Amino acid sequence: MIPETFKALRAASMSGNSIRPIIRDVRLDSLPPNEVLIRVHYSSLNYKDALSATGNRGVTRNYPHTPGIDSVGTVVYSANPKVKKGDQVLVCGHDLGMNTPGGFGQYIQVPSEWVMPLPEGLGFRESMMLGTAGFTAALAIHKMELNGQNPSNGVVLVTGASGGLGSMAVNILSQTGYKVLAATGKTSETEYFKKLGASEIIDRSLVYDQSGKLLLRPRWAGAVETVGGNILSTVVRACQRHGNIAVCGNAMSHELNISVYPFILNGINLLGVDSATTPMELRKTIWNKLADDWRPSMLQMISHEISLNELPEKIDLILKGKIRGRVFVSME
Ligand code: NDP
Repeated sequence: MIPETFKALRAASMSGNSIRPIIRDVRLDSLPPNEVLIRVHYSSLNYKDALSATGNRGVTRNYPHTPGIDSVGTVVYSANPKVKKGDQVLVCGHDLGMNTPGGFGQYIQVPSEWVMPLPEGLGFRESMMLGTAGFTAALAIHKMELNGQNPSNGVVLVTGASGGLGSMAVNILSQTGYKVLAATGKTSETEYFKKLGASEIIDRSLVYDQSGKLLLRPRWAGAVETVGGNILSTVVRACQRHGNIAVCGNAMSHELNISVYPFILNGINLLGVDSATTPMELRKTIWNKLADDWRPSMLQMISHEISLNELPEKIDLILKGKIRGRVFVSME
């Protein structure tokens, strides 16, 4: 039976202008009138969700709002014959959780084009252990390889390596034969990085060049970069010839201040990665890899499950860069 109300984490103004996340009952008829109604079983916490949950207007324009860019669940109702009641489905990215009520609610109602069948071999829980972080890490590596990256080129750097995306990238790269250099603010977590397969761990300050030089001594053959700013600038300047750098995130800064020399003298390739707008065919390819040979071997160690009630506290922690790995959320 479809209830009249359901539980959700709502980002709303508590006092004055500050937007904070709180758990509330939400009316089902407040969901947008899209074609497919889904009972969400699990969601997951991404950096972007924390921004949306705390009033970042670059992510979410109007409040109150339900964040959650990831969701997995069962179709309850569909007005499109291609999606059927009872289907087990993933909805990640697109506009979910940004300006469309997202996976931090027990129900979502979305356009049918956003709905993807849960890949064979992945369960509800596993799919949200991976979530957008796993998908984006795999998409980044896929793009690098399409552009010629392979293990024989040399070591690949991962920045923000203890984060959700970073942890997945370290693990997938190492199990597919790459030597991985993990740059992190949490160098004390040696055991964690070793289990993920990193061959070397360095403090992120060592990827923060302040010499002002336009090119640096080559230190890596490519990178999955998640923090932006001067770290990305350093990564580009110290990349060996024809290396590929997948630009994924801005946990430190959205800025990039570099010259054209790394590109015109060293042939460095900057590859943009946007998981949210990835076309459906490519999404399926990447998710099928994640369900198969790119399934991170340490997925259980990387991820831990929480309830909806625990989510506000984790949102604070992820904004402070204090979460290791991935948090996924039971919506039962
Ligand atoms: P997490 O918060 O899980 O990871 C971010 C990591 O970055 C932290 O764990 C920390 O790792 C490092 N970090 C945090 N703050 C700083 C800082 N001020 N300076 C340097 N490093 C910092 O986030 P996600 O893994 O969910 O996302 C990572 C980034 O990727 C975010 O910017 C996010 O918006 C982006 N993203 C982009 C996607 C896309 O499609 N392009 C999809 C998903 C995420 P450590 O301590 O190990 O250095």
